[in-house]
Amino acid sequence: MAKPATDVTLSLDECDPNALPPVCCKCGAEATCEKTVKFSWYPPWILITIVIGGLLLTAILILVLQKKRTAYLPVCDLHKGVWNWGGTIIALGLGWLFLGTVACAVAFDGRNNGDLFLPAFLGIAGLFFVCLIAGAIVQARGVRPKRITDDDLHLVNLNPDFVEAIEADRDREEAESTARRDAKRAARGMA
Ligand SMILES: [Zn+2]
Repeated sequence: MAKPATDVTLSLDECDPNALPPVCCKCGAEATCEKTVKFSWYPPWILITIVIGGLLLTAILILVLQKKRTAYLPVCDLHKGVWNWGGTIIALGLGWLFLGTVACAVAFDGRNNGDLFLPAFLGIAGLFFVCLIAGAIVQARGVRPKRITDDDLHLVNLNPDFVEAIEADRDREEAESTARRDAKRAARGMA
């Protein structure tokens, strides 16, 4: 049996408010509201330019080439809060790195604390890296864009029930437009 799809390519119309079926895109439960999500994406090959031109070139390329798209995604009460905790975890790690460094600078000031340096360094840098990696994993596992073009938005890590509901909606719309066209033809034929 084929694995149910967890990715979908949304048209520009489908990114508009109230365009998607009321199924939570994260858990598949009945959606109670829509969340305005601003996605941004850049071609992954840009990261290779770090090796060639350094961080500045890569940062400029990302600024120039990244694409942004806002989508209105249905969510349930449980998932209407923070969209993705990854960014928060990384921000907490950065806060810890900053505060820990300041605290150490104050505590070690002018004193020879050589035997305390290693545990302090491991505590500060170690926890920072744990936050960085955990945040990156949480971000990668969440709903995120795999590609944004001028006409569509390809999202991955969606709930399969949400993807199925979108496909059912599209099928229904297509059937309706076919029926309308057939009715028009029949009416013309009778006249
Ligand atoms: Zn949900």
